[in-house]
Amino acid sequence: MNNFDGRVALITGAGSGIGRAMALAFARAGAHVVACDIDPNSAKQTAADIGDTAFAVPADISDESSVTALVHAAVNAFGRIDVLCNNAGIMDTMALPADISVELWQRVLAVNLTGTFLVTHAVLPHMLKQGSGAIVNTASEAGIRGGAAGAAYTAAKHGVVGLTRNVAWAYAKEGIRCNAILPGPTMTGMATNATFDQTGMARLAPVLALGESIAQPEQMADAAVFLASEAASFINGAIVPVDGGWSAA
Ligand code: NAD
Repeated sequence: MNNFDGRVALITGAGSGIGRAMALAFARAGAHVVACDIDPNSAKQTAADIGDTAFAVPADISDESSVTALVHAAVNAFGRIDVLCNNAGIMDTMALPADISVELWQRVLAVNLTGTFLVTHAVLPHMLKQGSGAIVNTASEAGIRGGAAGAAYTAAKHGVVGLTRNVAWAYAKEGIRCNAILPGPTMTGMATNATFDQTGMARLAPVLALGESIAQPEQMADAAVFLASEAASFINGAIVPVDGGWSAA
C-alpha cells in the first residue's frame, strides 16, 4: 500500500531536515522526486543522494513566478504530480506579538502560509486534470495551540491548518486528498540554527519542556508517506500530531 512506483512527489524544503527525509522516503517507496529548496546546493545534494529518479529545482515558494517555474519543471520532466509535500518553512525567533518586527511577521507569513498556498494553487490544476492527488502539509503544534511558538509562526501555521481543511473539503469529490502533520520538536536545521528572542523563549520554555523527547526527521517523513499512500485513501482533512504524545498532555 506504500508503493509509489511510477508516482511523482514534489517536496518543498527538500534540502534539509524533514523535507530531505521526506524526499528520501518517497524515493525509497518508488516515487520520482522533485526536490525543491530555496538553497540550490542542498536541493541538489538531496537529488544526487537519491539518484536518477530525482532532480532538484531551486525555488522560493513565497515568489509566484518562482513557483510557476517549479511546477512547470516538475510537469515537464515527469508529466504529472501525484504527491505534493508543502514542507518548506522558517522560524519566527519565537518573538511575542508586541515584540516581533512587521518585517519578520510578513516574511514568516509569506513563506509559511502564502508559500504553501502558492504551490498548492499551482499544483491543483494538474491534480484536477489527473483526477487524483495527495497533498501533505507540514504544519506544527503551533497550528493548533497558542503557546508553542511566536506570533507570526503561530498565525501562519493556524492558517496552514485552515488551508488544509479547505483544500480537503473543496476537492474530495475530485479524488484529491489534503492532510497535515503537526511535528513536535524535531532535530533539523530549524532546531539547531534558529536564533531565539529571549522574552519569547522565557514565556514558551515551560510549554516546550512538556515535549518529552525530540523527534528525528524520518519519523515525520514516515507519517507523510502514510498520509499520501493508498493505506490512507479515506483520510482527508486530517490534522495529525506527530509528537510522541506532546499535544495529548
Ligand atoms: P529546516 O530548516 O531543516 O528545513 C527547512 C527547509 O526549507 C530548508 O532547507 C530551507 O532552505 C527551506 N526553505 C526555507 N524557506 C524557503 C522558501 N522560501 N522556499 C523554498 N524553500 C525554503 O527545518 P525543518 O524543521 O525541516 O522544517 C520543515 C518544516 O517543518 C517547516 O515547515 C517547519 O515549520 C516545520 N516544523 C518543524 C519543527 C521542528 O522542530 N524542526 C516543528 C514543527 C514544524
